[in-house]
Amino acid sequence: MEIHHTKHHQAYINNLNNAIKGTEAENIPLEDIIKNISKYSLTIRNNGGGHWNHTFFWNLLKTNNGSLPKGKLLRQIEQDFGSFDKFKAEFTKSAMGRFGSGWAWLIIADGKLKVTSTPNQDNPLMDVAEVKGIPILGLDVWEHAYYLKYQNRRNEFVENFWNVVNWEYVENLFEKYF
Ligand code: MN
Repeated sequence: MEIHHTKHHQAYINNLNNAIKGTEAENIPLEDIIKNISKYSLTIRNNGGGHWNHTFFWNLLKTNNGSLPKGKLLRQIEQDFGSFDKFKAEFTKSAMGRFGSGWAWLIIADGKLKVTSTPNQDNPLMDVAEVKGIPILGLDVWEHAYYLKYQNRRNEFVENFWNVVNWEYVENLFEKYF
């Protein structure tokens, strides 16, 4: 995770800064760039997405001692997926099913919660996303995210992700945007 944070994420930041240098994008908030990403270069899409996604991801992580989501978020998960375990199964399937590099997401879309995934460093806020919405949980399933510890065992990485989700943070995002 330290290498992931200090090398991989830093590279997205450096490449993004280089790509926007001297352009009007330098003065546009990243989230606005992301939402209109089809107007920008592939370099800005990949590295702007990379910076947004990783910043989002680090904020979601905290040792949770097996805690589960509570309150309104849990009720909405149960309403939209049937149960928390069914949601976990759907999210895991999405994370495992993403061929190559990308992300799995829990998003707010059309007044409900949905699971989706994106390739590369795309995310559901992007105007180019197949399924658009507001992310409240995301998991990096690039090999760089798990290969040092888990080698090819993406399934173990996804399984252990549930031990480090900061559900209070996810609940706050849910209540802010739902
Ligand atoms: Mn990553």
